[in-house]
Amino acid sequence: MTTPTRMNTRPSRIPMPQGPLPSLHACQFPMWDDKPTDKFCGKPTVPESSYCGPHHARCYHIYTPRQITDADRARRAKQARLNLERRDAAI
Ligand SMILES: [Zn+2]
Repeated sequence: MTTPTRMNTRPSRIPMPQGPLPSLHACQFPMWDDKPTDKFCGKPTVPESSYCGPHHARCYHIYTPRQITDADRARRAKQARLNLERRDAAI
């Protein structure tokens, strides 16, 4: 006799939407507010994405590191000195 386990007895926190899923070439961005429905954007997707252009742009952000200038380094060094002075004054 096997002992029942509690695994997989907990309901999913996010219920799956009801109804058919959109086709692979239709934007799969959910168009619901609070409760999942079968409403997806459905517009044609951009290449190699599950979303149309506007929704792809909304979901994916390209990271572009900012160049650190000499002024940034000077400001950081000044702030570090101030932090050390405040720490030493507090001791
Ligand atoms: Zn879309």
